[in-house]
Amino acid sequence: MPLRKDRRIPTVYLPDGNSFAYAVRRRHGARALRLQFFADGRLVLSAPKTARESVLIAFVQSRAEWIYHTKQKVDAMPKSILASGTRTDFLAVREEASVLAAARLEHFNRSYGFSWNRVTIRDQKSRWGSCSKKGNVNFNYRIAFLPPELADYIIVHELCHLEEFNHSPKFWSLMGKTIPDYRERRKKLKLV
Ligand SMILES: [Zn+2]
Repeated sequence: MPLRKDRRIPTVYLPDGNSFAYAVRRRHGARALRLQFFADGRLVLSAPKTARESVLIAFVQSRAEWIYHTKQKVDAMPKSILASGTRTDFLAVREEASVLAAARLEHFNRSYGFSWNRVTIRDQKSRWGSCSKKGNVNFNYRIAFLPPELADYIIVHELCHLEEFNHSPKFWSLMGKTIPDYRERRKKLKLV
């Protein structure tokens, strides 16, 4: 099968001699070329649908110096726990997270007496946990990497959602029953 040109991963050559891959997003509305570096290390070029391939390549290459310096800054930034982790980490830690969630749910539920259906451990980049109206509780496997008091905050938070499906004052007073310092823990959680 012949190599298709559009299958090539576009790369830019950096001043240090290395090459770096980027993604191209073709957008109908886009008027100009725009290069963005994301905190997770992705470099993305937004381009109009009609822009020629050679123009894109030349544009990105002309920004090689900027890409090189920005990449160094992004690499040096501490990554939040939520933004870190690979599929391998998930598979390695899923069971541990599941045991942790089950044990702490049981522990705190002695004070509440709620009931739930299923507890699932997920690999998500944007949230620590969730709770469905059907009583299914989900936790991010990364709870296993948190200090215990922050993992407890997340577990009790979802536990209380089984009873209060919102963040009303009633919800917070439920949480306060077992985690009186929930405000401080919530602040700390934003920093990890
Ligand atoms: Zn909530």
